[in-house]
Amino acid sequence: MPVGTAATVKGFTQSALEDLGAEIILANTYHLYLRPGHDLIRRLGGLHQFMSWTRAILTDSGGFQVFSLSDLRKVTDEGVRFRSHLDGSEHLLTPEKAAEIQLALGSDIAMVLDECIETPAPRVAAESALLRTTAWAKRARKYFLDCAAKNGDPTQWQFGIVQGATFADLRRRSAQQLIEIDFPGYAVGGLAVGEPHEMTCEMTGVATEELPKEKLRYLMGVGRPEQIADYVSLGIDMMDCVLPTRAARHACMYTSEGRVLIKNARYAEDQRPIDPACSCAICKRYTRAYLRHLFTAGEITAAILATHHNVHFYLDIMRQIREAIEFGNLAKFSSAMRARYAAGPA
Ligand SMILES: [Zn+2]
Repeated sequence: MPVGTAATVKGFTQSALEDLGAEIILANTYHLYLRPGHDLIRRLGGLHQFMSWTRAILTDSGGFQVFSLSDLRKVTDEGVRFRSHLDGSEHLLTPEKAAEIQLALGSDIAMVLDECIETPAPRVAAESALLRTTAWAKRARKYFLDCAAKNGDPTQWQFGIVQGATFADLRRRSAQQLIEIDFPGYAVGGLAVGEPHEMTCEMTGVATEELPKEKLRYLMGVGRPEQIADYVSLGIDMMDCVLPTRAARHACMYTSEGRVLIKNARYAEDQRPIDPACSCAICKRYTRAYLRHLFTAGEITAAILATHHNVHFYLDIMRQIREAIEFGNLAKFSSAMRARYAAGPA
C-alpha cells in the first residue's frame, strides 16, 4: 500500500496512481483529524469523495503518530492525551474516538488504537502495553459494533493489532486475545522499528502462526524491497511503507539491481534509464543523467518522476511475488532479490 499521509500520495495524482495499478492506499488518521478535520471530511462525503479516489483506503488509528510526533503525550487506561504538532492544541485519543474518526473518514479498513512503546522494550513494559492494547481493542470493537447496530452496517472492516514487542509468548498471547474479540482481519504492529530483520521475521512468524489463515494479515510499516518476499512467505498479505515515496524525494531510487542514489556524480552523463529492467513510464522516457540534473537543480519534477518509478517498482515486486507463488518458486525469487541488493547498484 502506497502511503497517502494527508489524503495524497506525495508526488502523485490519483489518476497516475490508478494507472500504476494501486488498488489500495493508506491514509493517516492523526494528520487528517488535525487537518482538515474528520467532521469536515464527513460533511464533504467521506475521504473517498474528498480526495477523488474510488479504490480502497486503509486508515491507521492515529496512535503511531501520536506516539512518534506529538508532544506531552500521557497514556492512561482511558486513552492517550497529546498536543498537536501543528499548533500545540490538546487532544484526547481514546479507542472509541479513533474508531469514530475512521468511521467519519469512511475508510474501507480501519485500525484499532494500540499502545506503541519504545524499543527495545523491557518485558514488563511490553506486557503492560499488550494488556492495554487488548483492553482498547475490546472497547474499539464494541464501539464499532454499537455504531453498526445503530446506523446500519458500515462497509468498513476493523482490524485488531498484535503487539508484544520482541517476546514470542507475548506476541502469541496478544494474537489469541484478539482472535477471541473476533476481527475481520489482523495487523502485526510494533515491528521494523530498529530491531534486526531476523527478529522482525521471527515475531511476524509467531503472530501469523496464531492468526487465522482465511483472514487478512497485515504487517505494519514494512519494508525494504529485498525483505518483502520474506514477509509474504511468513503469511503476510498486506504491507505499507513510506520508503518508496520518501526515499524518492531524497533522490534514492529502488531498482532491480539495488539502490541508485541518483545525485551521485557518476550518473551525470549516464544515458541509461534508472532501471533498464523497469517498464514504467519514467524508465521508458528519461535517462539517469536527466533525473540527476533535475534533482541537482531542485526541480519539483524530480520528486514526481522518482516517486512514480519507486512506487511502480514496489507494486511490481508484489506482482512478481504473486507470480512466483503461482509457480512455486518464491524462495528462489527472494534469494535472487537479496543477492542483487547485497551486490549494490550497477
Ligand atoms: Zn521505472
